[in-house]
Amino acid sequence: MSDDLDEIVFADLSKFQKKKEAPPFPIVAIVGQQVMKKTLLLHAVNPEIGNIMLVGEAGIGKSTAARGLRDILPIVDVVIGCSYNCNPHDKQNWCNECKSSVEDLDAYPSTIPLLELPIGASEKRIFGGFDHKSVLKPGFVGKVNRGYLLIPRANLIDPDILTRILDISEAGIHKNKSKSGDFVHPANFNIIATMNPEDGELDEEVLERFSMAINIKAIKDIEERIEIVRRVEAYRQSPEDFVRKNRREMEAFGARIIRARDLVKRSDVPEKVVTAIDKVSKELNQDNDWVKDALKQAALANAAFDDRVWVTVDDVAEIAELVLGHRISE
Ligand SMILES: [Zn+2]
Repeated sequence: MSDDLDEIVFADLSKFQKKKEAPPFPIVAIVGQQVMKKTLLLHAVNPEIGNIMLVGEAGIGKSTAARGLRDILPIVDVVIGCSYNCNPHDKQNWCNECKSSVEDLDAYPSTIPLLELPIGASEKRIFGGFDHKSVLKPGFVGKVNRGYLLIPRANLIDPDILTRILDISEAGIHKNKSKSGDFVHPANFNIIATMNPEDGELDEEVLERFSMAINIKAIKDIEERIEIVRRVEAYRQSPEDFVRKNRREMEAFGARIIRARDLVKRSDVPEKVVTAIDKVSKELNQDNDWVKDALKQAALANAAFDDRVWVTVDDVAEIAELVLGHRISE
């Protein structure tokens, strides 16, 4: 069997999904790849973790998994007609249009936005701007407010543009100054980026801005690989039927995420665990608040996903590689 089997299977699937506008391949139907799935699920539980990077060869299922996250995320209230998906219950973070509305804002239940940045998208499409009638057209960084921006093959993007997107994501707000006029809007989103090392390097400083980064390896087990082909084929035959067959498991994960999100809000990191985080960060020369906070948020998510409010040192041990792996040179 070809070593490039995964590549053929999943790369092809990306094209298929785009062409057919099919529902995403369910994340629960991805064979193996436990670390990748866990990373995405932890993030779904606690988006405070920050931005994540999935590293691995082409067609291994990185973008497929990220897209699949959408359908197990909680449903949220969104203001009708708002370009930035404002939350009707969070007045403080409303966009200017919502703030200046004289009428009561109506809302509707919506999936959390998960938008995919096309390779080669223009700066205007990414950051937004005014059209010829001086009407502000939000870019991806606005339209994805409160959601996820999927950036496939991030190492092929102009590093300055990637840095700007990271800046906006970290600030949670987009303040744009341009010749055609200034504007500001909420931009509270997280990035799921992917990269294939064969495409080239990514600047180390840029990579370190991702809270978690993982290396994904192709599955070698023959039986698992056959199962991958079988499932992808079934999905291609009828994406809707395939999703329906996985519905119960997706709903179970969805419910677990909602419960875990609630636990994260109610839990705290005990002193013993804070000390452990300090210690491990110091030992690995990563003694800064940014890294320590990522470790803390990921440990909180790990405990909550395990249905606990109490965070332990074992939680830190379980997530340490996800947060620290890409910061330590081998
Ligand atoms: Zn709004």
